[in-house]
Amino acid sequence: MTDLATVLYTEEDIHQRVRELGREITEEYRDRSPVLVSVLKGGVVFLADLIRAIDLPLRVDFMSISRYGPGSHATGVVRVLKDLDHDIGGDDVLVVEDIIDTGLTLSYLLSILEARDPRSIQVCTLLDKSVRRIAPLDVRFTGFDCPDRFVVGYGLDSGERYRNLPYIVAVGDQARLSRDPRALEGLLTNPELRPAAGTAPTA
Ligand code: 5GP
Repeated sequence: MTDLATVLYTEEDIHQRVRELGREITEEYRDRSPVLVSVLKGGVVFLADLIRAIDLPLRVDFMSISRYGPGSHATGVVRVLKDLDHDIGGDDVLVVEDIIDTGLTLSYLLSILEARDPRSIQVCTLLDKSVRRIAPLDVRFTGFDCPDRFVVGYGLDSGERYRNLPYIVAVGDQARLSRDPRALEGLLTNPELRPAAGTAPTA
């Protein structure tokens, strides 16, 4: 599409997969009422679409975290900036993530949530960079197995930009995007760069 970005998942790819995940989750939690927990901010676009594809009574809750510094990437230990609004003791919790990379952050978050005695806790992620996994994780629902590329769009950001791109691109030249954080803005403002349906390979 441009030297800077290649479409990995089109809007149609994503919406079709989200509908399938919604059906799988509806089946899994039949006769139950799960609490979907999302980590701000990357997961909110996925969560907003996913909950409308689930035909069950459910609740949503949010956490916000921040890393302590470069060292926390190696451990996954994060600071909780905003905790859940409600107790999850006895609940069926489904953690909804945008992307899992090494798995260190999620593994730390799961240990925090498990200590609160939910009835069950499972994970749903839109993207899984499974080749990068360091912390072993049981991921119950996966949208796409994602190549080891830096991706933006559909909630995923680069320096808080591009979350509103309705599709997901792999960034070709991260160094250039660091130098010029607005380098991909053409994708948002120029309709001619929008990918046509069926142009991108699905994972
Ligand atoms: P992990 O602890 O699994 O290595 O890190 C997961 C977090 O890293 C994600 O929640 C996300 O914030 C960030 N991340 C990992 N890979 C990407 C990527 O390709 N694009 C973006 N925008 N964020 C990513």
